[in-house]
Amino acid sequence: MLSIVVPCFNEEASLPIFFEETEKVKKYLNMPFEYIFVNDGSSDQTLPVLRALYRAHPESVRYLSFSRNFGKEAALYAGLQAAKGDFVTVMDADLQDPPTLLPEMFAMLEAKPELDCVGTRRADRKGEPKIRSFFSDAFYNIINKIADTEMVNGARDFRLMRRNMVDAVLQLSEYNRFSKGIFSWVGFDTEYIAYENRERVAGETSWSFWKLFQYSIDGIVNFSDTPLNIASFIGALSCFGSLIALVFIVIRTFIFGDPTSGWPSMVSIFLFVGGLQLLCLGIIGKYIGKIFLETKNRPLYFLKETEKDQEKQR
Ligand code: UDP
Ligand code: MG
Repeated sequence: MLSIVVPCFNEEASLPIFFEETEKVKKYLNMPFEYIFVNDGSSDQTLPVLRALYRAHPESVRYLSFSRNFGKEAALYAGLQAAKGDFVTVMDADLQDPPTLLPEMFAMLEAKPELDCVGTRRADRKGEPKIRSFFSDAFYNIINKIADTEMVNGARDFRLMRRNMVDAVLQLSEYNRFSKGIFSWVGFDTEYIAYENRERVAGETSWSFWKLFQYSIDGIVNFSDTPLNIASFIGALSCFGSLIALVFIVIRTFIFGDPTSGWPSMVSIFLFVGGLQLLCLGIIGKYIGKIFLETKNRPLYFLKETEKDQEKQR
């Protein structure tokens, strides 16, 4: 069986189109489907749409509804936990992950038994603001230099996995989730297919530039301790530099006497060093904040309703 995990946040308009398009692919794969829609605290009519989908197709549709918006990462995790299939795929509800690729992805898994996962990646970034592409490229350049986990530029969350890989991902139950890193960190053999970027069919993206920026910082902090090393390195360098300066000043005072001058430069140096200290404290604080959230050991989400509640009502 194939489980299709779909995180949904305010997707009332895209969901019916998504379902229709995905059903069309069914005849190319001789395998039963199971849809797991995760309603991530939508404020629109997503939940009623899901209830209606379930009532129309109780044999293949399941849904989970969160008590509030917990974010896409939590929705993905909940969906993977609920999935029962031997194959699991993760797809966005907006058809930016075309279901028509599924047969091709399956063919790849069938052709190579040792392959555990087929991922997808955008061949281009058409229809995306230039500045956003610039920052994404910069992010992938940086993170691939400083983190041991390789992250493929343009890789989407859309992927088809075998059960063994899903079970591995489920074992990483950390609170700070960065799926691109997690999928790569668990290892297993993954091949990527590229496809042209497309616009979402309906609704609006829930990712602002600022949200993406924070997400990228999370990615770096979650998968690399290089920022801490950089902070220590800057500290050591400035310590070394000031020692040399001290020796220089002492010797100069002995030779030329001590004229009181150079206050402006002193103040500049104070400010510079103070700024460095704050920067390094900020970096350390970022990591401590992550530890704080992680040690609270809170659940990743709370369910308010599932398709089972519908059954009870009957
Ligand atoms: N999503 C979610 N919770 C959120 C934000 C987004 O479950 O808090 C879902 C959304 O419904 C969609 C997928 O994550 O299915 C990708 O979101 P979106 O299309 O807004 O992102 P983009 O494709 O623009 O990166
Ligand atoms: Mg999208």
